[in-house]
Amino acid sequence: MAGIYIHIPFCIQRCSYCDFYREIGSDSKKIDAFVQALIHEIELRKDDLDGESIQTVYFGGGTPSVLNYDQFRLIFDVLHQYFTICSNAEITLEANPDDLTEAYLDSLSPLPINRLSIGIQTFNDKHLRELNRRHNATQAYAAVANARKYGFKNISIDLIYALPGQDMIDWEEQLDAALHLGVEHISTYGLTYEEGTALWHHRNEGKIQETEDITAIAMFNHLRKKMKENGYEAYEISNYAKPDFRSRHNSAYWKFIPYLGFGPSAHSFDGKTRQWNVSSVQQYIECIRNHQSFFEQEILSKQDFYNDYVMVALRTSEGIDINYLHERFGQELPDYCIQSAAPHLAAGDLIMNGQYLSLSATGIHIANIIIMDLIKV
Ligand code: SF4
Repeated sequence: MAGIYIHIPFCIQRCSYCDFYREIGSDSKKIDAFVQALIHEIELRKDDLDGESIQTVYFGGGTPSVLNYDQFRLIFDVLHQYFTICSNAEITLEANPDDLTEAYLDSLSPLPINRLSIGIQTFNDKHLRELNRRHNATQAYAAVANARKYGFKNISIDLIYALPGQDMIDWEEQLDAALHLGVEHISTYGLTYEEGTALWHHRNEGKIQETEDITAIAMFNHLRKKMKENGYEAYEISNYAKPDFRSRHNSAYWKFIPYLGFGPSAHSFDGKTRQWNVSSVQQYIECIRNHQSFFEQEILSKQDFYNDYVMVALRTSEGIDINYLHERFGQELPDYCIQSAAPHLAAGDLIMNGQYLSLSATGIHIANIIIMDLIKV
């Protein structure tokens, strides 16, 4: 079992909160050159998963929906040539709402994409403009309707809360709108002000007000309540799914299932080492063209694995499996974990349920602090 991630590093405009690696613009020659390099990378790394069958393929970005049918066709052809993709594989495309027109979805319909992750973020047009998103609320609703029309039965949407000036009433309206769509999966994130982004400058210049912590916590609590009432499982701090609709791709990351990441800045994991590709489209294309190395690599120590496991497992509803820690790492690291957890257990921020150590309703608000206490540096 393994997964494939394909990073499409192009965006048509820069969202004001985003610090991901991406290039702004839609120069078709550059995108074609990138696709050729990507295909070459897939060929070069065809043996890296030792023949493991592929259970998930994820096109992430950037904005993968800048690619057209012909470009996707080339990528799928080379994937099918070199990898065994399971017949029931989850194949996700991240897409901008305004790209999901009927014409575009119609053009993609011969492809095996069976899950869409739509970056709606909010249905409030004023907030969408502040975030410098390309789409408006009408396009967000239309994207989901069009996806249904073209047969997508597994749709995820992204929402952001704690937007500048957002109050509880607006957040309640956003959630109601999202729930009304009846999508299978919702990912939600509290807005963060990443250094150097336009939003970070606007806040520092006093042009916008950051949401107070107390309001952001109330928004998160309301989110959890509404999701539960509407049959969504809170399987990870930021992710909610209808039964059987957890993201299989992300869940595989959390279980240390090997994956290959293709494209600039993509990460790979083969069970022992972690690799990451250069974060520049130009450098990526040139390195591949000139047969030069295009990634760095590190061998993971037992402690690295432990830390990675704690960081991902504590965010999930199951939590940290202490028996798994024993099986995988022997005695020392599980002992370290339990000792480090003791003050948080006493404070009621962690819960021990059988072999599982998980966040309580209060602990979830200080998850990052607890994770820092449990990892070993
Ligand atoms: S579309 Fe996504 S990756 Fe591109 S700038 Fe906006 S948030 Fe960043």
